[in-house]
Amino acid sequence: MKYDYLIVGSGLFGAVFAHEANNRGKKCLVIDKRSHLGGNIYCEEKEGINVHKYGAHIFHTNDKTIWDYVNSFVEFNRFTNSPMANYKGELYNLPFNMNTFYQLWGVKTPEEAKSIIQDQIKGLNIIEPKNLEEQALSLVGTDIYYKLIKGYTEKQWGRPATELPAFIIKRLPVRFTFDNNYFKDKYQGIPLGGYNKLIDGLLKGIDTKTSVDYFKNKKEWDQKADKIVFTGKIDEFYNYQFGKLNYRSLKFEHETLNTENHQGNAVVNYNEKEVPYTRIIEHKHFEFGTQSKTIVTKEYPQEWDDSKEPYYPINDDKNGDLFLKYKKISKKEDNVIFGGRLAEYKYYDMHQVIGSALKRVKNEFKDR
Ligand code: UDP
Repeated sequence: MKYDYLIVGSGLFGAVFAHEANNRGKKCLVIDKRSHLGGNIYCEEKEGINVHKYGAHIFHTNDKTIWDYVNSFVEFNRFTNSPMANYKGELYNLPFNMNTFYQLWGVKTPEEAKSIIQDQIKGLNIIEPKNLEEQALSLVGTDIYYKLIKGYTEKQWGRPATELPAFIIKRLPVRFTFDNNYFKDKYQGIPLGGYNKLIDGLLKGIDTKTSVDYFKNKKEWDQKADKIVFTGKIDEFYNYQFGKLNYRSLKFEHETLNTENHQGNAVVNYNEKEVPYTRIIEHKHFEFGTQSKTIVTKEYPQEWDDSKEPYYPINDDKNGDLFLKYKKISKKEDNVIFGGRLAEYKYYDMHQVIGSALKRVKNEFKDR
């Protein structure tokens, strides 16, 4: 059977592309090397709790079209991410807001908080921040940087903050209101019943095959369709011919506890360098679970190698230049579409991946 599209990888990019192509009457086959569909948003149900097996995912977007799009497959709950930060046993609210400033300095007004931060920034003489450290220092001053950013960032990325791009820290808001909502976006939530519902909705009626390795039989797979949508690592697609891109990986340690509520929040960050994990996730709180047990996951960042999952692209100059080489040759392909966090080598959030896939769909089918 000949397909119009072979989609390699069933994460959000692949699933959205397949759904849209299928809607336009194209025959699609989606394959995945894992034993399940959904890429990193896949959840495993245990004790009645949806466990975010490949890291916590909280959907948020400012784009009403994308919000309506995901809600057309599954309704979302009203979960709002308000992580806590634990620094040497002290608890602080995130993102950096009036609650955090009160906890740090006892200040009660925005004016007092601004004045402390300004005093700390003044002496630093940073005019144009060149890296994450300078960006963070010039946004929030020294206290917050040394307590809540430096340790977390350096263990998360395994590099000094002076060698990391400034944009990573711009993901975090700084607010002079008492608002613990981690995201700035208008819309936020978790699918009712878990993320698998979203993937199932997207891939409904589409042929799928799991536990298959595309690269093992690339030629055979390629012959099955007129076009390929590739969502894996772009450097692997090209046999690493220019060298290997670097990624940051994670190790997850899941634990079932015989207690109803372990930490009182879905996400607690551990911000000092000495604690080897960056955060503990208590999954039930994403869905306001009332089960008698709870499942927690410790997240340990680690350097990536072939035996590990490539979770984050490393956006430094070296990897950026290398990626451009791959991108250049990928542009010449007539029958291969590249997309998603790994193929575009971009630190995408879920809504951005969906946006990117919908853009490719528009392009591919020349609709408006
Ligand atoms: N970050 C930090 N302290 C925190 C949380 C985050 O310094 O308590 C920094 C860190 O550099 C991290 C970045 O902010 O890589 C983005 O954090 P986010 O939670 O958005 O990352 P993700 O959930 O994608 O890992």
